[in-house]
Amino acid sequence: MRARKRSVKGIGLISGGLDSLLAAKILQEQGVDVLGITFTTPFWDCSVACASARDASIPVRVVDISVEHLEVVKNPVYGYGSNMNPCIDCHGLMIRIAGRIMEEEGADFIFTGEVVGQRPMSQRMDALRSVEKLSGYGGRVLRPLSAKLLPETEVEKLGLVDRSRLLAIQGRSRKKQIELARLFGLKTFSPPGGGCLLTKEGFSSKLRKLLGSSPNVSVRHIEMLKAGRFFILPGNNCFFLGRNHMDNMRLQELADLYRETLFVCKGVPGPKGLLLSTSSAEDVVKLAAIITASFSDASPGQEVMVEWRNIQCKDVFQIRSRSRQEFDDLMIR
Ligand code: SF4
Repeated sequence: MRARKRSVKGIGLISGGLDSLLAAKILQEQGVDVLGITFTTPFWDCSVACASARDASIPVRVVDISVEHLEVVKNPVYGYGSNMNPCIDCHGLMIRIAGRIMEEEGADFIFTGEVVGQRPMSQRMDALRSVEKLSGYGGRVLRPLSAKLLPETEVEKLGLVDRSRLLAIQGRSRKKQIELARLFGLKTFSPPGGGCLLTKEGFSSKLRKLLGSSPNVSVRHIEMLKAGRFFILPGNNCFFLGRNHMDNMRLQELADLYRETLFVCKGVPGPKGLLLSTSSAEDVVKLAAIITASFSDASPGQEVMVEWRNIQCKDVFQIRSRSRQEFDDLMIR
């Protein structure tokens, strides 16, 4: 019996955007066995990527890169985009991790939906080279949408894919991609550049302050930052205050999970607050309670009972609520 020829296997970065889906479809059309990888961190939600891949019949695996990615956000080699988005380093990390999976899976190459000249920071020719350099997988990264504009990769030289059936798309126009989406019947995909909190101005400004206030910011602090208003109290103490029911539930969950100090108003509807437990000074705890009371439904001047608790102690302050504007200087926007 003749041995069956092994199919060529490609590991692709699937963001849920149209370009990454098209890259996968173009390779599937050539008979490549495609495995999509989508990454999760606190900075974006991978559910759209999973749904898009499923609808496009692309098998996808979710990989949590929160810890490694946060280190990249703190110290990017190639700097940030217009906000706190370190896109070149982020792509380099993603390709490096996809490369590890390629080796574990015995796959042949990595592919992405990058298009030359589409994004000002991460998709310039030199940026694509930097991404490859950072990843350590130069020559094994294929960009099917722009392949004909780029130097031939090892993957093409070895005949693993047919270069003549790859594309030469460049620039910001989406016309060609929309045409291809129709051809492949792709209907579910996220808008270009959407979804990453690091590209948002408001979130980036808070993150910058959080990183500046504490050298040991970890993934859980990012989760807290997402769940409410953010205050930096004297001594660089970080305090998070819910804006709605969802935030309050999340802050309570995080306080319980990480043994932080939780603040709750008693007898009046109000937000929940989370103070990092490293801040045990009594004046800081009292200030956090005053802020909690002042953002409750109580009128300024009204007495409010605020309970606070952590793993070591529990107590109640009787607080006179104040005007919220008094805390403008402490709140990071
Ligand atoms: S926009 Fe966000 S997810 Fe995309 S490359 Fe930049 S930092 Fe990474």
